[in-house]
Amino acid sequence: MTTIAFIGLGNMGSALCANLAGAGLDVWCFDPAGSARAPASARFVESVAEVASSAEVVVLSLPDGAASTSVAAEICEAEGSVVTHVIDTSTIGPQAALEVERLLGGVGIAFIDAPVSGGPAGARARTLAVMYGGSDAACERTAVVMAGLSDQLHRVAERPGPAQAMKLANNFLSATALAATSEAIAFGLASGLEMGTMLEVLNAASGRSSATSDKFPTHVLTGRYASGFSNSLMAKDLRLYLSSVRAIEAPEALGPTSASLWEAFSESEPGVDFTRIFPYVEGL
Ligand code: NAD
Repeated sequence: MTTIAFIGLGNMGSALCANLAGAGLDVWCFDPAGSARAPASARFVESVAEVASSAEVVVLSLPDGAASTSVAAEICEAEGSVVTHVIDTSTIGPQAALEVERLLGGVGIAFIDAPVSGGPAGARARTLAVMYGGSDAACERTAVVMAGLSDQLHRVAERPGPAQAMKLANNFLSATALAATSEAIAFGLASGLEMGTMLEVLNAASGRSSATSDKFPTHVLTGRYASGFSNSLMAKDLRLYLSSVRAIEAPEALGPTSASLWEAFSESEPGVDFTRIFPYVEGL
């Protein structure tokens, strides 16, 4: 297998697509927004149908379950399609993953759901955590593509679905820690502490998390607010988390509070970097 394809060249997809091309694979890519973010080493094509007629393995990085389902349907309907495997790195939730698996399975295409965590910076550094689920045969067949994505691969299931639950659990924790850290730092600043001092102490104490060790020092303290992950996508992830919790009647305690805070933030400032939750919480 040398030719593969990538669909969705946004913040995350453009970095992952570049990794695959950098791993020596011949990569064709497509995004309806155009070729501006296509890596120089990948060949940009004009449609999903063109992708489907060129590569056996197709990797997706799309905003949500609706986009993944619609692209999967296009792949299924493409004339002259040679696609045998689809790997979806998007966060779409377990239910959408099962729907995509059902659609693709109907025309004999194997599906691996492979959501990721670590942001575009992690993708570029190849430290992105890829959590994935798929059959033994599908994972064996696509091993070279998975290895091209990142050096941190975690196979969590032998079928699609549970990897999405893993990703939603991760983002519930990440979002809640970032929101709670924003509230704690706002309290400290109002009490006369400095943000740098607070982060130094929190990172040496029991309040540390990826919010205190990475998001705050890199994006909030510096005022960069450029993690490459939007608040709208994080709000979507928390909606998916909550609906997945409710679908299986798992316990909910902080989920609704965290989800409604992210929902309100993304309604108030749609599409801004998710690290801007700090000024949003500070202004409440
Ligand atoms: P993004 O909005 O930057 O990019 C999405 C891309 O998909 C856009 O280029 C858009 O043109 C394209 N697209 C939308 N609908 C499409 C369709 N129907 N067919 C083909 N292309 C389509 O989003 P992103 O930040 O790159 O995130 C992509 C996925 O990865 C999301 O599911 C997100 O939750 C997940 N994710 C993102 C990050 C991050 O830090 N950015 C981290 C982990 C997971």
